Amino acid sequence: MMFARLTLIAAATVAAALPAMAQDYPAANKPITFVVPYTSGGPTDKAARDLAQSMSKAMGGVSIVIENATGASGSIGANKIAKAANDGHSLLFTHIAQATLPTFLRNIPYKVDTDFEFLGLVSENPMNIIGRPSLPANSLPELVKWVNDNKGKVNIGNAGVGSASHMCGMLFQSALKVDMTPVPYRGTAPAMTDLIGGQIDLMCDQTTTTSQQVEGKKVKSYAVTTAKRLPAATFKDTPTMQEAGFKDFQITIWQGLYAPKGTPAPVLKKLNDALKVAVKDPEFIKKQELGGAVAIIDQRNEPAGHKAYVAQETAKWTPIIKAAGVYAD
Ligand code: ASP
Repeated sequence: MMFARLTLIAAATVAAALPAMAQDYPAANKPITFVVPYTSGGPTDKAARDLAQSMSKAMGGVSIVIENATGASGSIGANKIAKAANDGHSLLFTHIAQATLPTFLRNIPYKVDTDFEFLGLVSENPMNIIGRPSLPANSLPELVKWVNDNKGKVNIGNAGVGSASHMCGMLFQSALKVDMTPVPYRGTAPAMTDLIGGQIDLMCDQTTTTSQQVEGKKVKSYAVTTAKRLPAATFKDTPTMQEAGFKDFQITIWQGLYAPKGTPAPVLKKLNDALKVAVKDPEFIKKQELGGAVAIIDQRNEPAGHKAYVAQETAKWTPIIKAAGVYAD
């Protein structure tokens, strides 16, 4: 009798708690935080802010804040969310690093597969090979010649081993068969400042943040990394690497949202529903297009499609990374 009563009370408590979890989320007095593992003003930060605005709208104006937790190629921020409270208030916004860092970093403190809930991919960004304004080369063939004439002296900025800019720079060096000195930063925003100032020679970064600098002639735009030229006015005169004879040269960066493992299903659903509304928001779409990027609106907005794409990209990049043999701790 006593046991039956206790069971009834327990069942009633669970029934009351479940709907409350979804209804009360997000808590009125607590913002949702998107942790971005790179510096403010870079392309990952920009995409996170664009998404936060549209998701906030989709969730009736809830407050979404950005925290830049930088360092160790983006693994510090990702690890912070892998270990965060799984109440839906702390999320990770990051990019292709989810597929590349596990191979690049010898001591990565989290497992992408099992430490995160996948909430959906939101945008795809081409990349752009750019140079300091004082570089004598004015075209891609001239750049190739300049790099060859200056072997051993050329440096290239990036956001750390395994970051998007590092991957692209690595492909660029192997296409040209020339080693360059990598200069790592905590994100490509500070690298861009140094490129504009002439402290570094080259960088390959996402078009979403290079476009303004290219338009303002603050940097030289040599190539885009897509198979076809970009339709955006800023890049229509920038050739692809493939056009210049670098067969198969292609890299596109994808960005998405993650929650710590074990976040309750009703909370995940609320977030995923909002993400799917946000990627269709004309404002979000326009912001991506202005920077030569595209909003992702397909099965990769779903947790299963997102997870499958990360697995596919991991399988694609792992042998390339291993062949390059560049590792970090
Ligand atoms: N785009 C950078 C990268 O190379 C990171 C950033 O600053 O957003 O991965």
